[in-house]
Amino acid sequence: MTVNQSQLAPPHIAILGSGPTGLEAALAAHRGGFAFTLYEAAPHIAGHITAWGHVQLFTPWSMNVSPNMRQALEAAGQTVPDTQACPTGQELVDGLLAPLGRLPEIEKHLRLGHRVIAVGRQGLLKHEEIGSADRGARPFRLLLEDGDGRQQVAYADMVLDCTGNSVANAVGDGGIPAPGEQSAAPCIEHRIPDMSREASRWAGCTVLLIGSGHSAQTALRDLVDLATEHPGGKVIWLRRSQGQDLGVVEGDPLPERARLTAQAQQFLVEPPPCLTIEAGAVVDALAVDGPGDGLSVTLRDHQGQTKILQVDRLLALTGKVGDHHLYRQLQIHECYATSGPMKLAAALLGASGGGGDCLAQTSLGPDTLKNPEPGFFILGSKAYGRRNDFLMRVGWQQVEEVFQLLHNNH
Ligand SMILES: Cc1cc2nc3c(=O)[nH]c(=O)nc-3n(C[C@H](O)[C@H](O)[C@H](O)COP(=O)(O)OP(=O)(O)OC[C@H]3O[C@@H](n4cnc5c(N)ncnc54)[C@H](O)[C@@H]3O)c2cc1C
Repeated sequence: MTVNQSQLAPPHIAILGSGPTGLEAALAAHRGGFAFTLYEAAPHIAGHITAWGHVQLFTPWSMNVSPNMRQALEAAGQTVPDTQACPTGQELVDGLLAPLGRLPEIEKHLRLGHRVIAVGRQGLLKHEEIGSADRGARPFRLLLEDGDGRQQVAYADMVLDCTGNSVANAVGDGGIPAPGEQSAAPCIEHRIPDMSREASRWAGCTVLLIGSGHSAQTALRDLVDLATEHPGGKVIWLRRSQGQDLGVVEGDPLPERARLTAQAQQFLVEPPPCLTIEAGAVVDALAVDGPGDGLSVTLRDHQGQTKILQVDRLLALTGKVGDHHLYRQLQIHECYATSGPMKLAAALLGASGGGGDCLAQTSLGPDTLKNPEPGFFILGSKAYGRRNDFLMRVGWQQVEEVFQLLHNNH
């Protein structure tokens, strides 16, 4: 490991992740006159959104651009859409996030292809200096890794963890891996397929789709379309629930979301010939049949009855959570239920229970963003933990509140 001591130079804010929240934070740091570095694991801006770039957002352009983003781009002579059309993830990157990353005030602080592996406090372990001012006086120590596996250390006085959700939930019952799941991991896919590019990989296959959320519903729609066009293809949709809970919002003001959930409901009521629904069952075990031979998946229903399915592909869209190992050596108080930061999680539970419509979400005040670890903030979609009602505009509000705290302290 190379330790780059020159990084010890002036105090600054480390912003982790160049998604919508990290970029908003970079704009706020620039406007507030704070020194900052913006680390992005991918070799380009907004690595996570690019990975689902073919998927259309539910929220229109008018909701996807923060006032600060619009102002910064317009000041640089660039126009930003302000319509009711819903962009795809890639259109959002190309039309908004990448241009923000190219603004001189951000680009010179941007370290693309630099994954933050871990964050600690220089000279202190997790259990030391609990609640003492000395803890806040020590710089954060960040272990970075570039795309070639080279590692180095950087330092910061404050860290904004805006790294989003990247760790896929297990498919086994109770949220832990099913027997065989870990060794079958290379054969389990966790992203919404892009049928405009990879239809040939899925056509004619028997696909087991696991999950009921919007991502699973999007993949279901595309897989059914493909299997209808290519005879021989089959889709098996495995749902833990036997009900119709598909995140339908009464009088949904987001037409794309309303269309998607209505389509999924229709599939439940009247499955097309290519679709089999396994409802009220869980994955009991998994085994890879052999190179290129697919998988054997054992399902168990509520009565304890089991059956084995032979499938060509397993698509698990069971949600993703943030990388919590990143701050394992820090004093972060996580919620026992959502894994989000405790104060925020408690405020969210108080405001809207275990979940609600993302459109009803709003930031809940600067104090809810504080952690026992001074100067470390988890912002954006990662701050919502296992909840699925985050919208990017909440991330911008969180950024504004953290910078209010900062300005009050300086
Ligand atoms: C299919 C899909 C559709 C969605 N549609 C909508 C929608 O319509 N409207 C809406 O508001 N929200 C939508 N969301 C939620 C959306 O993902 C968030 O609103 C938005 O992307 C959150 O922004 P973020 O900056 O908090 O996190 P992210 O966009 O996830 O950004 C995190 C960034 O951190 C980087 N990163 C990760 N780990 C590290 C590390 N260790 N070191 C350095 N960098 C790292 C990632 O590469 C990424 O660029 C959707 C999500 C999905 C999956």
